[in-house]
Amino acid sequence: MLGVGIIKGLIETARNFFGSYRQPERFVTIQYPEEQRQVPENNRSFPFLVYDGEDPIKGLRCVSCKICEKECPPQCIYIEPERDARGKPIKHPKVFDIDISVCMSCQICVEVCPFDSIKMDQAYELSQSSRFEALILQKKHLSKSNEYYHQIRPTEATLVDKQLAAEKEAQAAKAKAAAAKAAPTPSAAAAPKPATPAPAKSEVPA
Ligand code: SF4
Ligand code: SF4
Repeated sequence: MLGVGIIKGLIETARNFFGSYRQPERFVTIQYPEEQRQVPENNRSFPFLVYDGEDPIKGLRCVSCKICEKECPPQCIYIEPERDARGKPIKHPKVFDIDISVCMSCQICVEVCPFDSIKMDQAYELSQSSRFEALILQKKHLSKSNEYYHQIRPTEATLVDKQLAAEKEAQAAKAKAAAAKAAPTPSAAAAPKPATPAPAKSEVPA
């Protein structure tokens, strides 16, 4: 019948309106920004860089491989690797910028990173009065601790930690096996040298 849907909708609205006096969870609106809703774990805003330990710059997991920069569809990541005294690139980003006015939160950078260095944040209060420089997030803004990662995405961060620990263990075992292979075996090292045969009596000069 025509209008049944509208009537059902109005009844639901009325139930929520009067019911909210007794059950606050029926409120469909909140007093933002004083009140803030907990966002779901898989909610994503813009990427951030994960660091381990205490130092937000030295502890960055990023090795400056630039894979995310190449794969980002709108090309809003800019990376420059750190260099040593001879100008050779080292595994650390000197510059890591993301232009969040261009970023479309697609998460491709996260999916392609082989080192679990870049993850999606949930922070959304990022508006600025300037449309340009203020929306380019630099390394110091992007760097966030692994504890923060656990706080916003506990399930994913726990899985990543387990995976990284397993990889570290496998690498250590591989290095140990390679070192054991390269070292001389104790039996070979201890084996006596073959004795030089004594000259025959006929060969000894008189
Ligand atoms: S989320 Fe997508 S658009 Fe944003 S930096 Fe990553 S790859 Fe680029
Ligand atoms: S965030 Fe990951 S993919 Fe991007 S440069 Fe760093 S290590 Fe490479």
